[in-house]
Amino acid sequence: MMSYRRHSCDSGFSGSAEVAVVEQKVQALAIPWARVLLVEDEVDIRELIHYSLAQAGLDVEEASDGAEALDKLRSFAPDLVVLDLMLPGMPGLEVCQRLRSRAETARLPIMVVSAKSNASDKALGLAMGADDYVTKPFSPRDLLMRAIALLPPR
Ligand code: CA
Repeated sequence: MMSYRRHSCDSGFSGSAEVAVVEQKVQALAIPWARVLLVEDEVDIRELIHYSLAQAGLDVEEASDGAEALDKLRSFAPDLVVLDLMLPGMPGLEVCQRLRSRAETARLPIMVVSAKSNASDKALGLAMGADDYVTKPFSPRDLLMRAIALLPPR
């Protein structure tokens, strides 16, 4: 992962205006600090979540079902998976179990986003290895904050 020091003491810049210009340029580079694989079959919800996460500077890759998600995991290497449970084909819980059973993704943070809002559904999701369980409908800002809580430090 790329990194930079925002307030380097030896940057050689004398004025705060120059520092502000440098900060603007760094922001304009839009260096993502984490990668999120978003698994959601409903286009509207997928776009909403994608927009919320991308606004915060995250690099988001989309998958519309479990098979596509497992395929993209290899090439994208995410820091977090946002996972819908009711997907066409392979259920989200099975995707969750498969990730947990593989050594390379056993500790990968998983946030379930589901319309299944019963306490027993949440308990099952967490038992299957999810790190957090967000119920639909959700507040995009709440989802973002909870996603950030699961990510590695910037
Ligand atoms: Ca769904």
